[in-house]
Amino acid sequence: MPLTKSEKIWMDGTFVDWDDANVHILTHSLHYGLGVFEGIRTYETSQGPAVFRLTDHIKRLFDSARIFLLDIPYSADELVEATKETVRVNNLSSCYVRPLVYLGYGEMGLNPLPCPVQVSIAVWPWGTYLGDEGLKHGVRMKVSSWQRHHPNALPPAAKGTGMYINSSMAKVEALKAGYDEAILLSPNGYVSECTGENLFVVQDGRILTPPVSAGALAGITQQCVKSIATDLGIDYEVAHLLRSDLYTADEAFLSGTAAEVVPIRSVDDRELGEPGPITRAIQDTYFAAVKGEVDRYKDWNEHV
Ligand code: PMP
Repeated sequence: MPLTKSEKIWMDGTFVDWDDANVHILTHSLHYGLGVFEGIRTYETSQGPAVFRLTDHIKRLFDSARIFLLDIPYSADELVEATKETVRVNNLSSCYVRPLVYLGYGEMGLNPLPCPVQVSIAVWPWGTYLGDEGLKHGVRMKVSSWQRHHPNALPPAAKGTGMYINSSMAKVEALKAGYDEAILLSPNGYVSECTGENLFVVQDGRILTPPVSAGALAGITQQCVKSIATDLGIDYEVAHLLRSDLYTADEAFLSGTAAEVVPIRSVDDRELGEPGPITRAIQDTYFAAVKGEVDRYKDWNEHV
């Protein structure tokens, strides 16, 4: 589906018309893939639009930048404020938010240090990432033939732009084989995560999710799942999982800012069926929380 345009994009401190938000063809990040980004959502609440866990996302953006030695020329507070302003000037009550830190036009070659670190923030209306049907009845997953990168090849804690070649290859493979989404295993064979989502299985009433050491990003939605599960009295554990754990799970689901909380209905054609009670409980509470309907999670709604 083509993007639904918004009006303005924040680029290095100024608002630029959507159609004029261009970069030079010799932009360093375009060639070598070194940049960092975030994916955030703004939701409509009864008190107006609120960016969900904005401060946590901007903090992760800075952590990603730090890992790659990118010196962001703004403070975290400035980018929080710039994000809110971008949502405000575009007059959107709900939208996706994409801050990007990239190396601009400077020198070519693999040394990134001489290139300017530039920042943009774009927002646009974006519906369900894995489809309404998937949200209701679950998505069909395929374990990818591509592995998640080894932590000593690319650091899983960082959201680096070029790292997503791995996700894109797995995504395309899954789609071409007729599935909705891919699951990647780590180089030593443990379950890692999906192409842009964390993964959970439910076994004997407990929620289990793979650790960062298996190559998974420390997801902010994953942290929400942990808080919600704990508050609902559901056991939540970080544990190494094997591929067969996916096949024998009582329930499984995935989480991510774009995807939100989505049930998994099958893995490699092993049917898990319609979403189970724990998946539903987490999903329902998450959707209430993003809309500001749960008092105990109101801190997550950062009003613009
Ligand atoms: N894993 C990967 C690889 C991702 O790109 C994302 C999306 N940022 C996630 C997990 C989920 O993270 P979050 O819940 O913070 O969006």
